[in-house]
Amino acid sequence: MIPAAFDYSRASTVDEALALLMEHGADAKLIAGGQSLLPYMKLRLARPDRLIDIGRIDSLRGVRALPDGRLAIGALTTYAQLLDEPKVMGLALMADALPRIADVQVRNRGTIGGAIAHADPAADMPAVLLALEAEVVARSARHGERTIPIGDFFEGAFSTALAPDELVTEIRVPSPSGSYGSAYRMLEQPASGFAIAGVAVVVGRSGANGSADGEVDDVRVAVTGVGEKPYRATSVEDALRGTKLGSAAIGNAVGSITDSVAVQGDIHADVAYRTAMAGVMARRALEAARERLFE
Ligand SMILES: Cc1cc2nc3c(=O)[nH]c(=O)nc-3n(C[C@H](O)[C@H](O)[C@H](O)COP(=O)(O)OP(=O)(O)OC[C@H]3O[C@@H](n4cnc5c(N)ncnc54)[C@H](O)[C@@H]3O)c2cc1C
Repeated sequence: MIPAAFDYSRASTVDEALALLMEHGADAKLIAGGQSLLPYMKLRLARPDRLIDIGRIDSLRGVRALPDGRLAIGALTTYAQLLDEPKVMGLALMADALPRIADVQVRNRGTIGGAIAHADPAADMPAVLLALEAEVVARSARHGERTIPIGDFFEGAFSTALAPDELVTEIRVPSPSGSYGSAYRMLEQPASGFAIAGVAVVVGRSGANGSADGEVDDVRVAVTGVGEKPYRATSVEDALRGTKLGSAAIGNAVGSITDSVAVQGDIHADVAYRTAMAGVMARRALEAARERLFE
């Protein structure tokens, strides 16, 4: 299908993009790589009066290390650029997830900022960033810059905490230090590659709470593709904190992976199958993260 008619502006700086957003308000939409927005416009699920193209703002691209050790990933950094970035690929769950996202064409155009702003409930990056406890940096002309913890960012299917005049500038990702393991495991819908159930895990022995005997004191389990938004499975985390991540403990804990959500059913997976697969992916991700922690 052909999108409805729209006007087009190209911003060459962040300030220019923010001024255009202020001027045109909710009638305008930012476009970065266009990999989600253009299909939506063709299906008439989105009908913006104006597109504000931010795709050539170079200051929003790239990965840098912050003085506190975190990574700052520019919103316009593409999946392909992330795959080429050793600082990102050094995070095992990023290395698990990134090569599996979409296909080479989409990875060349699709951006990490676009992926989280679109907030598709089956997208991979939201779960990975939830497990890493990332922060989203957003700016608007009216209110300047603010930082949103990733746990507060996703509000529902295709819905985020961003105001209509806000732009994501970067995503800040802590790089777990000390003894940590991480993994991402997902069952993908074969045609699109989106997650039927995807689970991102970070486990660690930070030593802060007396983990000398090998018990983990930091357990983070984030799930995508299952509920109407990505979520942390806190009951699984609570059950495994203080254990040595034995197979029996993992097997028992993952039984509660969907306890806090309304599992979605669709033509790809009904509720019972998706619930079962969430448990399987959680077990696999936890076992892989455990291997990496203790290797
Ligand atoms: C064939 C296909 C297969 C795919 N498979 C997968 C998959 O397996 N896993 C997966 O996770 N994803 C998958 N995707 C989705 C893909 O990851 C996203 O389309 C892409 O990352 C979105 O980024 P973009 O730059 O293209 O965003 P755009 O399409 O340009 O924008 C998407 C939305 O985000 C907003 N936006 C963009 N940038 C910003 C910003 N900086 N600040 C505020 N708002 C912004 C736009 O206004 C728009 O609402 C697939 C997409 C396609 C087309």
